[in-house]
Amino acid sequence: MIRKIAMLLLVAVVGYVIWVIILNLPGNDAPRTMATSPAPVARMGAGTGKTIEVVRSGPLVIPVAGIVANQLTDTFDDARGEGRIHDAIDIMAPRGTPVIAAAAGTVEKLFESKLGGTTVYIRRDGGQWIDYYAHLDAYAPGLTEGQKVPQGHMIGTVGSTGDASPEAPHLHYAINAMAPGEGWWQGKAINPYPLLTRR
Ligand SMILES: [Zn+2]
Repeated sequence: MIRKIAMLLLVAVVGYVIWVIILNLPGNDAPRTMATSPAPVARMGAGTGKTIEVVRSGPLVIPVAGIVANQLTDTFDDARGEGRIHDAIDIMAPRGTPVIAAAAGTVEKLFESKLGGTTVYIRRDGGQWIDYYAHLDAYAPGLTEGQKVPQGHMIGTVGSTGDASPEAPHLHYAINAMAPGEGWWQGKAINPYPLLTRR
């Protein structure tokens, strides 16, 4: 009987220790640690000579300089005519405001399209996600396909190219989940809003 109780105690203690170790693994904690800094962090925009304001939100940074989470509106499900839905978030900002990489990755495509205007597709390391930035006024000087960009790197400026209203410049930002082998024009959109407003 006493051996049985001792055995149960041992199992309980070992279980508890394993539980504590799992909870303290750095991988579990890292995103939450990063989410505790909602204030803008000034950083020099590479090649611009200007200071840009980087606001971190969870694992991402908000892709327009100086914009904080409570300035964002969830426009992911908005209708966009001809049966299309938006599948992105529009971040309003004055023309010329720096657009910065929400996540690190490699510039896969610089593309001019009828709807999106001047656009950038950046594939994150690992390949499963592409961040898409549209209606840019201009690319950052020297931005090229194949270039590695760190998170927070300036990739262009807010504008209204494509089908955006010239009176309402904004960044159209989308996150696409990529199946293996899919190209930059493919993927399935997920809503960036909850990710950008995570505390
Ligand atoms: Zn949009």
